[in-house]
Parts: sequence; structure tokens; C-alpha cells
Amino acid sequence: MLENQMLQFLNSDFQQFTQQDKQDKQDENSETEVPNNSQRQLRVKSFEEKPANKPLNLIFQMLLQKKTQKRQQIKVDPKSIPLSINLSVQVQELPIIRKIMDKNEWKKAHNFDGDILWCGPDNVQQAKQFTYDFAMVFMNLCISRIPGAKLISTKKETTSIMAKMRQYFPSIYNFYPKTYTMPEDLHEFIEDFEKKDGISYIAKPDKGTQGQGIFIVSQIEDLFNNGVKDISYIKKNYIIQEYISNPLLLDDKKFDFRLYVLVTSLKPLIAYINEEGLARLCTENYQDITSNSQNFIIHPPDFQKINFGTKRTYTSAKKTLMKMGIDVPKLKLRIEQTIVRFLYGIAPFLLNSTREVYQDKWEKANCFHVIGFDILIDRDLKPWIIEINANPSLEITQVVQNPNGSKRVETSSLDAYVKTKVIEDAFIIAIKTPQEQIEQIGKGKYCNSYKMIIDGQPPIENLDLFYKLVDLYSNLCGLRYGNLNQMRFCRLANNPQLINELLIKSDYDLIYKKIQLKSLQPDLNFLGFLEAIESISDKLLKRKASNYTLQKAVTYVVNMALKAPQQHQRPLTAKR
Ligand code: ADP
Repeated sequence: MLENQMLQFLNSDFQQFTQQDKQDKQDENSETEVPNNSQRQLRVKSFEEKPANKPLNLIFQMLLQKKTQKRQQIKVDPKSIPLSINLSVQVQELPIIRKIMDKNEWKKAHNFDGDILWCGPDNVQQAKQFTYDFAMVFMNLCISRIPGAKLISTKKETTSIMAKMRQYFPSIYNFYPKTYTMPEDLHEFIEDFEKKDGISYIAKPDKGTQGQGIFIVSQIEDLFNNGVKDISYIKKNYIIQEYISNPLLLDDKKFDFRLYVLVTSLKPLIAYINEEGLARLCTENYQDITSNSQNFIIHPPDFQKINFGTKRTYTSAKKTLMKMGIDVPKLKLRIEQTIVRFLYGIAPFLLNSTREVYQDKWEKANCFHVIGFDILIDRDLKPWIIEINANPSLEITQVVQNPNGSKRVETSSLDAYVKTKVIEDAFIIAIKTPQEQIEQIGKGKYCNSYKMIIDGQPPIENLDLFYKLVDLYSNLCGLRYGNLNQMRFCRLANNPQLINELLIKSDYDLIYKKIQLKSLQPDLNFLGFLEAIESISDKLLKRKASNYTLQKAVTYVVNMALKAPQQHQRPLTAKR
């Protein structure tokens, strides 16, 4: 029932997108002015602080209010915004950042100063140390990384969150192929593999490999080094994924899209998709793996040979698909809808990490993140998210072979074109407060190359469940977010709605102990807490016997717990 409601909502969301698209077409020749709102302010400190920048601020406002003819869009000239970029935590300056700074005459900021702190892929190491102290020192800057983005930087982590979302909302989270992590899910995989009917599996190293080391699993032995079927020989750090065996082809070649998504706020959730992206084609014509026997070799897209047409822009690939008779607007909407669903799933987990870092100052966290999505389209025009990259490549050079066989490195104009848009426009949007973004841009509208796809509104209450869990966890943790001790956890049992003859107060102690011992941590982290709430809802509602879905049962417990905050505060000795 609840899930039906949610599907209905997402479908209405989908219709809205369709209407928006129709509207865009109708709007093509008309130009409307956005009402002037003098109260809108920019987040860029320099505008407010430096009188000399005031005229530029006005230009910015004017440009902001001008829509293009083509669609609902605000155009901002990056040069009109005098940004200063702090590269002090950047181990190695990225050529693309320097290029964007030069192009727009953006200044380099030093020490703890500037508008934007660039934390690019080269300092993942550094970003892992995104601690409270780091956050406080750079509190006044807009940071190009969301704490805890490591949650989406490895296939293993993404898989575990997507598995959780699929468990709760199976008909919504059906766009990430079923994935097993090794060695943890070996037994489950063997079971599924043995009863496999027409499903093929692909094995991929956990970390991005640019296509290296990927193979089709034709027999269980393939998962073990030297084919020795013994757990100690298992190929570690691999994930096994259901293979999408009916890909849509582009010029007879398998391809995937690399699209760029910008997240500028987690609560409220605000996200954008870039209109441009890449399509990466395989070098060989596609062969159906069912017509091949063993040792089928995957020919991944070749990321370097763009001269051979293996890498194109999203726009040019869409044009080719259109010529092939594909309903491209429909495909585009489906892709956006899939990304929206993914983001609703992942955002509460990212919010949890942000709160762990920023503690009571989390609402002041001023972070954004550009995420790369690898999307494969099947012949039914269904988009599958096959990989998410928290550090999408910002490389703008390529190796080219000279006629004499020697090699040289040159700038790839295709990469430079796409990636410049992606980063430059991300900066322009991210410096605005969430409120300004919602007011000035709005859902379905573009700001330069980015289209807002989530405008701070949760889709419906149910998909909000994990956000509520973060709130509940926070209420219980008190001042130290991220560290839930036993006494605080057991306050849940002071709520008369959360105990019955099947679940008594001492069970809360047992549930806590069991999970905490397993995690080897002194306190319960958010994932441990989630497990504890699942356990409470199982017992309280006799879930398995009563056919409650996990989602419904957990929603009940969370709603009850959030409804009675006063009772949580009572000491353990309080009357029930
Ligand atoms: P990498 O981390 O090396 O980029 P990817 O997960 O992007 O690995 O996979 C590389 C290529 O393998 C993809 O571009 C796609 O062509 C193919 N591939 C990956 N996963 C699947 C899948 N589940 N089904 C079909 N093809 C896949």
C-alpha cells in the first residue's frame, strides 16, 4: 500500500518531468522575465564585503534573471562572479581547475581564506581526514566535498546501501543490478548462481579500474585464484553483479553514459544533473554472451581512443539515438528519475556522515559534491546504474599516437568541454545558499548547464524514512552525534508504544549489546542503530508472523519514537 503510494508519487513526478519537457518545447520561442526580488542575496562573501564588487553583483542579478529562449533557464556569466578558490589542501593542482580559474580570472586564495575550497580527487586521502577540526577551520568556505562521500566511492559501499534500499522499497530500487560483495556474499551468490535461469554475472574489482580485470563468471571456479575452490583462494575485493545482457547499442556498439550530478545540500536535499556528459563506446561490435561459451572477454569502453569515436558527448550520442528512432526525451526523463531515486536513497547516509563530522554545527556545513554516474541502457530503454563515482575523472588530456609510433599527450577538447561545464557551473551554483537555489532556480529549471532535479522537497513521507531515522538517532545521541551509548538507546523503551508482551524493557539492553559486540565499537553507529530498530520492529510487531513489510514495521517504530520525544528524556526508572 505504502509502496503503491510511493510509486504513484514517483510516476506523478515523472509526469511532471514530461510536462516540463513539453513546456520547454512550447517555451522555445517565448521569453519571460523572472520577477525581480531585491531580497535575494548571494552567498559569496566577497560581494557583501568588498564595495568594489557591488556592480558585479548587480550584473550577476541581472544575468540571473534573464531566461534563455530555449527553456526555463537562468544564464550566469562566470566572469561576472569574482570567485576565489582555495587550493591549499589540494596535493596536486588539477589542470582543469587552473584552466577554469584563468578563463574566469578567478583568484587563488590562501590559508583559510576564499570562497571555495577545492578538494579534488587527488586528495581523497586528505578528504578521508574530513574531521571536525578540518570542518571548523574551513567553516566559511564552500567545500567541494561532502563528508563521508567514501560511501559512494567504492562499489562495495554503494552496493550495501542499494541493497538496504531495495530491501525496504523493492519496486523503486530496481535499477541497480543485484550485486554480491566478495567474500561476504559468496554463499548467497553460489546459491543464486546454481539456480540461475538465464542470468549471467559479471565480476569487477571493487575500485574503479577503467575496465581492467572485469570478466564474465561462467563457473564458480572463476571467482578463485588459480581456480582453487577454497575460500582462502577467493579473489578478494571483487564484486559480482547481474549482467545486463540486452544493452541498447549505438552504432552496433555497447556503450554507457557518464553523467554528472551536483549535490549542493543534504537537508533539504538539492541536486542537479548536468545537461552534458559523455557516452563511452566499446571498441568492438557487441556480441551476445549467450552465443559465446567460456572465457568470454569483456571489451570495456576504451577511454583513451576518442579519435575512433569511442567517446562522444551525451548530446551527440542522444542525436544518434534519436536518428535510430529511440524516444530520447523519454529516455532522458527515465535517466533523471533513476538518478533522483538513487539520490533519495543515498542522501540520509551522507547526512549521517556530515553530522558525525560537523556535530552540532551540521546545519552550517557548506559542502557540495559532483558525482559521476555510469549508466547502461537496456533495449527496453531502462537505465541501470552500474557504477557511481565520488571522484569522477577530471582528466582533460589524452595520449595520442604519432605517425611514427611514438606517443604524445595532448588536451582532449571533448573532455575539456564537458568537464569545464561540470566544474565551473558547480561552483557558480554551490556558492548560493540552499534557499536561494530553490527560489532562484527551481525544480526542472536550468542554471547554466545544470538542471535542478531535486528542490528540497522529499518525494513523499515514506521515502523520508531514513531521514527520520537520522533524526531519531540524533535525538537519542544528544550532544555527541554518532556515539549512541546503551543508556541513551534504552530510553526508547520508556515509550509505552514501544513495549509490549513480546518486547520488554530488558530486551532493549540485549538488542543493544548484541549489535554493539558484533561491531566491536564502544557505541552504536548509525548502521548499528538501524539494525537495532529493525530488531525492535521485528519483535514488537511480530513482523515475520504478521506479514508486515520491513518498511512498514520500521516506519511504525520510527513514527512512534519520534512522536513522543518527552518520554525519551525520562530516566530509566520512570513509570511506563
Ligand atoms: P570500472 O570501475 O572499471 O569503470 P564499470 O563498473 O564501469 O567498471 O564497468 C566497466 C564496463 O563493463 C562498463 O562500461 C560496461 O560496459 C560493463 N559492465 C559493467 N557492469 C555491467 C553489468 N552489470 N552489465 C553489463 N555490463 C556491465
